Amino acid sequence: AERTLVLVKPDGVARGLVGQVIARLEAKGLRLVAAELRTLTAEVAETHYAEHRERPFFGSLVEFITSAPLMALVVEGPRAIEAFRALAGATDPVKAGPGTIRGDFALEVQANIVHGSDSPESAAREIALFFPQLG
Ligand code: ATP
Repeated sequence: AERTLVLVKPDGVARGLVGQVIARLEAKGLRLVAAELRTLTAEVAETHYAEHRERPFFGSLVEFITSAPLMALVVEGPRAIEAFRALAGATDPVKAGPGTIRGDFALEVQANIVHGSDSPESAAREIALFFPQLG
């Protein structure tokens, strides 16, 4: 089965939405492989978001993602990457459909509750970054 890295970002943890995110992915049929509440260092955050290094929002994004604990999850299932991104909805929560995590719980592009890997290559890279022991 395929694996993906899911983050309940600091806004989701602070708002008490970890349980609802996990309930939705488990209800879909995805299975938890690893889970840890942790506060990211700037170094891990910058590595995780390296593809956005040149974007104007990069500094703000790193500041946000390191500001408080997040819940890091490894999730497994058939087409887990695409399945979780469908549950999450569009990056901009105002454009995300009702019934999606972002569509139901968020309004801001940065504080959009969850992250999910976007390809098999990024899933492998992100899982190795967050949970090297799973390698
Ligand atoms: P993620 O990678 O977190 O699952 P995504 O793939 O839907 O999100 P990306 O375009 O990769 O979206 O952006 C990564 C994250 O950067 C977004 O989830 C959001 O938190 C933040 N972000 C993206 N665009 C903006 C923006 N214009 N302003 C502020 N933050 C942004």
